[in-house]
Amino acid sequence: MTRVIFKAFWVAIASAAGSVLLAMMVLPFFDATIGELGLLMCIVCPLVIAWPASGYMFWQNDRLRATHNELSRAHAQLAAAHLRLAEKARHDDMTGMLNRESFLGVLERSRRKTDSGALLIIDADHFKSVNDRFGHLAGDEALLQIVGALRGGVRSGDVLGRIGGEEFGAFLVGANEKEAFRVAERIRQKVEMIRFRVDDERILPLTVSIGGTICEPGATVSELMRSADRRLYEAKNRGRNLVIFGNDKKDTQAA
Ligand code: GH3
Ligand code: MG
Ligand code: MG
Repeated sequence: MTRVIFKAFWVAIASAAGSVLLAMMVLPFFDATIGELGLLMCIVCPLVIAWPASGYMFWQNDRLRATHNELSRAHAQLAAAHLRLAEKARHDDMTGMLNRESFLGVLERSRRKTDSGALLIIDADHFKSVNDRFGHLAGDEALLQIVGALRGGVRSGDVLGRIGGEEFGAFLVGANEKEAFRVAERIRQKVEMIRFRVDDERILPLTVSIGGTICEPGATVSELMRSADRRLYEAKNRGRNLVIFGNDKKDTQAA
């Protein structure tokens, strides 16, 4: 406030000086002189009018600047919150993996760039019975352990997503058939090795079945999903805890 009063004071002084100067320049044209009273009015009027008027203007200006700064801060906070929310919306709360929509989005983008790679669909075996026998909380815990095995099984740079309740997708970036099969088999073994303790006495075996396919150039996301899903279905039919990998020309399997 003191700053505003001070600034307004200097404006008033300048106005008074300007007013005196102007009167002294203009009055000679009318053959008149400024006189004592005129001089007094030239000084007092600007002081009385310009000081409060410019003070009010400076004060408003300060308020506007403060509001503008506040708005900018709020805007930055909103943008950051929006970014956080958008990031959160892309992920599954429980596992932290990409959700189905975002995973398919990654696949879709890779198709557009014709990136090479392989797609795996990994499904927990007989998972309903885990819930039925030990309850949903134990089921959640078992699922998180499977997720841990999945994370440990893929290579860095591969993309994981939760595409269903106990079903996951893995896009193995740039992998050829041999590499993809190796990764799928590593995941299967890692899950098989989990010692999931349901209570002090019992350890529950966990397994997954995996269907995989190479991302052939030109194949759409739904074609790839269908192809991997077909192999997954086959792995389930052949007894589960199994990897079946291939494209529509040939299949490879391991258990
Ligand atoms: P299959 O080997 O044929 O895949 O048998 P499944 O029992 O795993 O398959 P089904 O589709 O019959 O059942 C899937 C089960 O997975 C049922 C559902 O309750 C459970 N499930 C899915 N998501 C979650 C989850 O987030 N937490 C828990 N605890 N269970 C889940
Ligand atoms: Mg299942
Ligand atoms: Mg399933």
